[in-house]
Amino acid sequence: MIDPATIHSTLSIASVEPFILRIPIATPVKTPMGMVDSAIALLVRVTTTQGEEGWGEVWCNFPRFSAFNRAVILTKVIGPFLKSRQFAGPYEAWSAMSTAANVLRLQSGDTGAIASAIAGVDIALWDIVGKRERRPIWSLLGGKVGIIDTYASLGRSHGGEEMIEDAMKRGFRGFKLRCWGNPDQHIGAYHKARAQIGPDMELMTDCNSSWDIAHAADWSQAFAGLNMSFIEEPIPVDSPKAVWQEIARRAPAKIAGGENMITEAMLDDAIDGDVYGVVQPDICKYGGFSGLAPIAARIVGAGKRYAPHIFSGAPGLLASAHILAAANSPDGALEYGIEYNPPRDDFVRHQIRDGKIEIGDAPGLGVEVDVDQISRYHVATPSW
Ligand SMILES: [Mg+2]
Repeated sequence: MIDPATIHSTLSIASVEPFILRIPIATPVKTPMGMVDSAIALLVRVTTTQGEEGWGEVWCNFPRFSAFNRAVILTKVIGPFLKSRQFAGPYEAWSAMSTAANVLRLQSGDTGAIASAIAGVDIALWDIVGKRERRPIWSLLGGKVGIIDTYASLGRSHGGEEMIEDAMKRGFRGFKLRCWGNPDQHIGAYHKARAQIGPDMELMTDCNSSWDIAHAADWSQAFAGLNMSFIEEPIPVDSPKAVWQEIARRAPAKIAGGENMITEAMLDDAIDGDVYGVVQPDICKYGGFSGLAPIAARIVGAGKRYAPHIFSGAPGLLASAHILAAANSPDGALEYGIEYNPPRDDFVRHQIRDGKIEIGDAPGLGVEVDVDQISRYHVATPSW
């Protein structure tokens, strides 16, 4: 991985435009974070004074209306700041945005909203520089091969047999099911899934922070004998360290987490500590390429598994794929939600072969978002 601070390419920004997308889905899903009744994405287009264009994406999955606040942060805070300055490259811009918004972040308590808005703009700036240099971002940042491992992520435990069958036909070789609350309600589905996929493919669980912390270490035992690759977020990230350590000691699989770590300090703690074997930061939620590339290098350097979290449209998915490829991780794997997701699938539909995605050599992120095409999903950014 190349230090993003060393890559210079002058940036003068003319505009920062958010695009909120919302597409109702046929079958709403009740999650521990709230009801998911639509696919939501907040894309951002950044244009330079020379007319170059880059696309990024801002995490806004929960609460389901949070795209509005983040879009206004883009138009009223980040955009005006960027337009009044020139930067030596994306890292300098990311660093300047982070510093300039720091007092607002502290006063508002909106650490997540501000960090994700900055992350989305950073992704767009790297897209611009990649296109300018005619190189994919994974290569700009020192990746050796533009091919990554991926795994299929299902938003359920029971009832996923057909989806798993279809995903295996598409080429997926790893599967993650949900376990919201007591595993007694779910464990049958994991045994079914293991029998369906056979002994050699990966099987994982994501609990979305839903386990009772008093029972979590005991509950993890339910997964013994299933050859699980990891148990993700059994309890909330800010639960007492001693509880996390107890779970990590007793669980029959590595502990995974990182999607709810939205500061460098939180991620450093996960990298240096003895709890997490798998670290999963989300590039649209914290850091973009500039903030996360050094952290990804540290995850891999510490011998931990780097498995980026992502649940997004096309720019976010591609950004995650590029940073994973750039990290040259020996066992990294990208999450790939396998249910239909229009903000992603209308723009990219990857061929998956033997569990791998070939990102390709297209410059920048490798996606052009057609504004006319997304207009049918477009929800206006509130004026202020
Ligand atoms: Mg998760």
